[in-house]
Amino acid sequence: MKENEAIILLMKAAHFAAMKHTDQRRKGERGEPYFNHLSDVAQILAEHTGGTDPILVAGGLLHDTIEDTDTTYDELAAEFGAEIANLVREVTDDKSLPKAERKRLQIENAPKKSDRAKMLKIADKTSNLKSILHSPPADWTEERKQEYFAWAAQVVEGCRGVNKSLEKVFDDAH
Ligand code: ZN
Repeated sequence: MKENEAIILLMKAAHFAAMKHTDQRRKGERGEPYFNHLSDVAQILAEHTGGTDPILVAGGLLHDTIEDTDTTYDELAAEFGAEIANLVREVTDDKSLPKAERKRLQIENAPKKSDRAKMLKIADKTSNLKSILHSPPADWTEERKQEYFAWAAQVVEGCRGVNKSLEKVFDDAH
């Protein structure tokens, strides 16, 4: 992809995500805008792939649109193409399933994901760990935080072997 195309894609994805998540806040005590998480994930991905993969970074910005907003796969495919829509779908949980089952499936399915989806998962979990450390949800006990950390580590275990530098930022946060 040419540099000018990459800039347009990334700004379009950033704005699309900002609009879609307008009314959402993070669970942390500060109630940060949801977009802070998306820009964090995208920035982690950009940095640890040396700015070489605009599709992956756009996927980082859009990764929660299907799961947490009214955005459909078809809408993403029309706006951003099938490659990005497929990547977002790959990291989207099936919300019709109970939460415990979704969490179990994330661990089970992680090793079967594409390389981009694995990197996105590691960046997503890294961002969530940093949020829990710096602005924990007010109602989370120490035990609940530890459970989240342990579960995130299990998901990331299945995503290893693609990008050492990303694995290291996760391990450092953990
Ligand atoms: Zn996320």
